[in-house]
Amino acid sequence: MKQDCSNKRECLEMLQLILDGEATAEQKEHFLKEHLEECMPCYKNYHLEVAIRQLLKTKCCHEAPQQLVDDIKTKVIQNLSRS
Ligand SMILES: [Zn+2]
Repeated sequence: MKQDCSNKRECLEMLQLILDGEATAEQKEHFLKEHLEECMPCYKNYHLEVAIRQLLKTKCCHEAPQQLVDDIKTKVIQNLSRS
């Protein structure tokens, strides 16, 4: 797995599109099944975003306190680097 993403910017944009449900099936397929398999930073970012969005949903608010978001990020990153 790559430790660096050669096009992080584009990857982050794609990730947002997918999570917002705005990506096409092909984009999703390619990003989730191919890119995430080989790109460590994007894999981490993806799971981080998913965790944060899920949390925001369960809290029923659109803005979580920054402290809370930071806590989650730290936890998710720790979990990912352990596995
Ligand atoms: Zn990437």
